[in-house]
Amino acid sequence: MTANSMTTGDSALNADRRARELRELGDRPAIDVLVIGGGVTGAGAALDAAARGLRTVLVERHDLAFGTSRWSSKLVHGGLRYLASGQVGIAHESAVERGILIRTTAPHLVRPLPQLVPLLPEIRAFQRTLIRAGFVAGDMLRSSAGTPPALLPRSRRVAAAEALRLAPTARRDGLRGGLQAWDGQLVDDARLVVALARTAAAAGASVLTRVEALAVTGDSATLRDTLTGQTVDIRARAVVNATGVWADTVDESIELRPSRGTHLVFSAEAFGGLSASLTVPVPGSTSRFVFALPAAHGRVYLGLTDEDAPGPVPDEPRPTDTEIDFLLDTINGALREPLTRKDIRGSFAGLRPLLKTADNSTADISRKHAVLRSPTGIITIVGGKLTTYRQMAEDAIDAAVARAGLAAGPCRTKRLPLVGAVSGAARDRMTAPQVWIERYGSEAAHLVAAAERDPALLEPVAPGIDVTAAEFAFGVTHEGALDPSDLLDRRSRIGLVAADRAAAMAAAEKQF
Ligand SMILES: Cc1cc2nc3c(=O)[nH]c(=O)nc-3n(C[C@H](O)[C@H](O)[C@H](O)COP(=O)(O)OP(=O)(O)OC[C@H]3O[C@@H](n4cnc5c(N)ncnc54)[C@H](O)[C@@H]3O)c2cc1C
Repeated sequence: MTANSMTTGDSALNADRRARELRELGDRPAIDVLVIGGGVTGAGAALDAAARGLRTVLVERHDLAFGTSRWSSKLVHGGLRYLASGQVGIAHESAVERGILIRTTAPHLVRPLPQLVPLLPEIRAFQRTLIRAGFVAGDMLRSSAGTPPALLPRSRRVAAAEALRLAPTARRDGLRGGLQAWDGQLVDDARLVVALARTAAAAGASVLTRVEALAVTGDSATLRDTLTGQTVDIRARAVVNATGVWADTVDESIELRPSRGTHLVFSAEAFGGLSASLTVPVPGSTSRFVFALPAAHGRVYLGLTDEDAPGPVPDEPRPTDTEIDFLLDTINGALREPLTRKDIRGSFAGLRPLLKTADNSTADISRKHAVLRSPTGIITIVGGKLTTYRQMAEDAIDAAVARAGLAAGPCRTKRLPLVGAVSGAARDRMTAPQVWIERYGSEAAHLVAAAERDPALLEPVAPGIDVTAAEFAFGVTHEGALDPSDLLDRRSRIGLVAADRAAAMAAAEKQF
């Protein structure tokens, strides 16, 4: 089987397909792999399993990318920060996976992003040397992972004028240029998850959102349709728990303790047309940084915090005032005009899982992922990061295949482009609007064709918002959006700014 022949099935997810596949679930012959959780890990695992020829069902109790996978910084990391703590293996794994995403699996969704550390007087010679050394180590990582400088350029020092071109609102007084390195940036994390789920569907997986797994064992589960309340008991030869910070609710033998990471949302104007990740060391630390990132819909995200977040895991974690002050204070140290709370247009927070170990200490699995087996045989895959989802999925499905003795081919995802993947000359030849190519890749052609049939689809969903009715319609027919919030909060990220969400609500409601 070639990569292409594995994904020639129908990738369109929608309410009709969901209803049909839910109906068939009761009489479906034995399922090989049930994957629980529709974040990047679960969607990646479903794709891995289906591409190996296994009969695969993915269930997600809310929507695709409902959990942590939509609250990330949306960076495809080369693993530099793991090098700093001596974790060479994890750093190399990240750099390799970044290369696979940029070159093969999702070239349409990942772009190279310059990272700029402005050399302001507060940065002492020692710290500058440390950051420079880190960037050079990052270059070595990139090259050892086989990613050429044509895709991600080498790091370098830039003059003050270039630093200000990249970050126009950076402080000028005392600016002695900047240190620049390159990493990958996703157009959006939730869009990666949707592309993974659809590619899994094309490879034969059933992808069922609004379906919750209850009473899970190593070879069975009760599935509840959260739209109707109906339940069905199913058997599966292997069960993979990919529920992230909720993993301990599915497999009670593990215990997690979350830590919260917060971002603030600004309009691009507040940063004067920022075109790099403006990266500012946290005063008093040699390894922590705050960064401002140019983002979708003409916005800038400012992150990131790391706060202990004990207690029950909420559906939508919220930032605290202390986190907001910390982010503003740190970035303001590097800006000409300080930003205030009035400039903040929105905020979001996500939870990283920490794993409680047998001696009651916590292990940080936000770096290295863990594959765990429960007494009943549930395979839990937890931790890691968005960048390494593919390797995590491979490890989880390898474990499932071994445990259940499944007849499966080898993992194929290294060479399996996701739905919409397009790059190079083929991308240059596309005639669709740039923003559609960035969000949909080769599938932008579908939107163009639809808009030719019905020009009203070119209307923005609200004044001043760069999302069209064509995109909302495609979200419903092809991307599995089942209600307005799926369109506003995950297929697009309009919802990160409450005022924009309210303005676009009527257009989203019109689709249902
Ligand atoms: C603040 C922050 C910033 C980050 N930034 C980056 C970054 O820039 N780059 C990077 O590579 N990584 C980053 N990460 C890490 C990355 O976001 C996570 O590792 C990844 O998103 C975790 O995905 P997941 O699929 O394991 O979990 P989730 O995305 O949380 O998915 C779990 C899913 O399971 C569902 N679920 C739960 N229980 C059930 C049930 N019983 N039945 C059915 N479904 C269920 C949930 O609804 C949820 O959708 C960041 C993490 C945080 C917290």
